[in-house]
Amino acid sequence: MTSTVDAPVSTSPARALVCRGCGTEFPLAAQHACYECFGPLEIAYDPAALARVTRAQIEAGPQNIWRYAALLPAGQDPAERVTLDPGLTPLVSAPALAAAIGLRAPLWVKDDSANPTHSFKDRVVSVALTAARGLGFTRFACASTGNLANSVAAHAARAGAPSVVFIPGDLEAGKVVTTAVYGGQLVAIDGSYDDVNRLCSELVETDEFEDTAFVNVNVRPYYAEGSKTLGYEVAEQLGWRIPAQVVIPMASGELLTKVDKAFSELVEVGLVEAPAGGWKVFGAQSAGCNPIATALHNGSDTVIPVKPTGIAKSLNIGDPAAGAYAIETVTRTGGWMDYADDDEIRAGIELLARTTGVFAETAGGVTVAVLQKLVASGRLDPEAETVVFNTGEGLKTLDAVADRVGPTHRIKPSLRAARDAGLLG
Ligand SMILES: *Cc1c(COP(=O)(O)O)cnc(C)c1O
Ligand SMILES: [Zn+2]
Repeated sequence: MTSTVDAPVSTSPARALVCRGCGTEFPLAAQHACYECFGPLEIAYDPAALARVTRAQIEAGPQNIWRYAALLPAGQDPAERVTLDPGLTPLVSAPALAAAIGLRAPLWVKDDSANPTHSFKDRVVSVALTAARGLGFTRFACASTGNLANSVAAHAARAGAPSVVFIPGDLEAGKVVTTAVYGGQLVAIDGSYDDVNRLCSELVETDEFEDTAFVNVNVRPYYAEGSKTLGYEVAEQLGWRIPAQVVIPMASGELLTKVDKAFSELVEVGLVEAPAGGWKVFGAQSAGCNPIATALHNGSDTVIPVKPTGIAKSLNIGDPAAGAYAIETVTRTGGWMDYADDDEIRAGIELLARTTGVFAETAGGVTVAVLQKLVASGRLDPEAETVVFNTGEGLKTLDAVADRVGPTHRIKPSLRAARDAGLLG
């Protein structure tokens, strides 16, 4: 039995907010855009604080994302966390999936459907809301494509705080029910996610919402950092190694950039050795919402917004905030992006389920279908170790495959009927 400690780990290693565009620094506050160039902000760390982190310290930590608290901008003191304690989700070995698609090296599925509200969003929400409470906010909110809504409502319920969650009016029932059940206000908007996000950007400026942290608007820099824990975990679960290739679904593109940031930090602070040849980051979108992949395919770093369609609703952000940074990451690492249409997404969900026992939501179907395409097109090296990210749970998007699967036999409850149906050989 290993002992785990979850004691305060000194103070936050975060040093400032820094503009991703022009590099201007700002104090750590609830600010998400640069006052100089309107570029997005991200967290900058004190390198000396990060360099003090050891493998032993992480390994002795709790069995959730907070084992990496010394690498995060908030949550160093357990008593101050607003959290469902997500993380340390299974890294599933997937030899049958590898064989089915022609990969000859180890393939892993990082299964983030195992989080408390069944998507990777619990990671980002735990970090964002912990930072938000530290900054003095008393009400929690978000603009959501579905999974974020679940997670914010659940975190608020656990913390005993009010929440107000904004969603597009056409979300899957599985996402609406799994948000509404936690109580709090749930506002369906007649419009797309991009309309919802625009409204939230206006609300956040009003006096009435002064007390409210929108996890992906005014505290977005903290939110984005939560995604790093997926990268840390994959490396730790591989025995402190970084895989040669990762395939990641994209909505805003933030998750993809932050997994890469996590790998870079682990190398910089000396927790992991960079693999020979580095790592390649691959991005996955749906054909109904592929502005980032399209820009890359056109050799451009300007992402032209689209009006999203198709069944992968959790990824349906037509104007992705981190799109250009995702292109930069993929290009710099030598990866690629591709997209899958609705039928390919459904087939991807089934293939993953049948070869690994993991039932993914549509975003997971996107990622598996794109993995297949990347192997087929030769963009992904079939001889190199690969990790594919399943970011959400199939039970939330049952309709995607409900028409394609069902009982294989329907018989009377008798031995004879079983024999007649061929079940006895
Ligand atoms: C939000 C979400 C993503 C992608 O998130 P971004 O950081 O916005 O790219 C991927 N998968 C699922 C299931 C999600 O809900
Ligand atoms: Zn700037």
